[in-house]
Amino acid sequence: MTQRTPLYDLDLAALANFLQELGEPAFRARQVWQWLYQHYAASFAEMTSLPQGLRDKLAAVAVLDRARPVAEERSSDGQTTKVLFALPDGKLIETVRMDYDRRRTLCISSQAGCAMGCVFCATGQMGFLRHLTVGEIVAQVLYFARELATEGAHVTNIVVMGMGEPLHNYDQTLAAVDRLTDPAGFNLGARKITLSTVGLVPAIRRYADEQRQTPLAVSLHAATDAERDRLIPINRKWPLAELMAACRYYVERTGRRITFEWALIAGENDTPEQAQALGRLVRGLLCHVNLIPLNPTAGYGGDPSSRERVTAFQAELTRYGVSSTVRVRRGIDIQAGCGQLRSRVVAEGGTG
Ligand code: SAH
Ligand code: SF4
Repeated sequence: MTQRTPLYDLDLAALANFLQELGEPAFRARQVWQWLYQHYAASFAEMTSLPQGLRDKLAAVAVLDRARPVAEERSSDGQTTKVLFALPDGKLIETVRMDYDRRRTLCISSQAGCAMGCVFCATGQMGFLRHLTVGEIVAQVLYFARELATEGAHVTNIVVMGMGEPLHNYDQTLAAVDRLTDPAGFNLGARKITLSTVGLVPAIRRYADEQRQTPLAVSLHAATDAERDRLIPINRKWPLAELMAACRYYVERTGRRITFEWALIAGENDTPEQAQALGRLVRGLLCHVNLIPLNPTAGYGGDPSSRERVTAFQAELTRYGVSSTVRVRRGIDIQAGCGQLRSRVVAEGGTG
């Protein structure tokens, strides 16, 4: 059989072309678009407003499934669900759903593995496998949108904080953002999608220049080059001075607040010296710091900071006038940290 066309990889114009080549009238593209992104159809058979002949034809020449769920875990409090998906080539990625108050937040992956090699990160420890396509990114969201619809709920927020570095896969990730915010399609507000980057300086500047409405988070984790070099290898390429200049540029260009992520590691980056260095680094910048005690991973010996150290770190930031929030680690009993479920499935004899 010839390769079937993955429809989630097509934007509206490409879908219109595709349908036209099948001999369909122009209005079909919008119809199919709505089935995909407003009704979250899981099969062509569900697209009941299309003629039966077209549904059969689409099933023969096109495909929806890009991400097949192969494992699922739910935290003991039931608020966090993590699904391991197999991509068409067998690569494994993870997506996490977090239910908190009325929010239904998804944490989605942008790559299989990651090339950045941050020492504390399960995804970094596995290395880079490949970029995801726009369809593979979008498919993660549609899977959970479908699940939520059966509960009378919908996706309210997305964080691109799963496996991979979204700005390393810039075009596909931002195409997925555009797809998910399309008012004629999935229609999620741009401000509801947060991208998190390890700090790819040219990509941050590009993102700023494009005046993107989607919020940006930067994984800082250290406020001196000596410390950041140890945790985040890419810091050797784009050290803090360049990174902070790009962050300031982003805030100036967009007028938007930037978020800094900081995984607190006991005795490593939770010292008063690091807190003070961070205070000096970001003082006066329109920003917010998220403090997250480290999620332990198999390939890294560090421990999460104690509650006292977290409180002391935050107090130091407050002295510098820097606002911060301590994030609770959700789904810790299912290892909802990025890359952790895949790591275990592979260790137990899976592939990908
Ligand atoms: N590559 C992007 C987005 C994916 S990682 C980035 O690095 O920002 C999402 C967030 O999880 C990042 O802030 C990352 O530093 C953090 N993270 C990775 N491993 C972690 C761990 N073991 N404990 C706590 N946070 C972790
Ligand atoms: Fe990649 Fe982000 Fe993990 Fe670093 S923290 S290895 S950039 S996924």
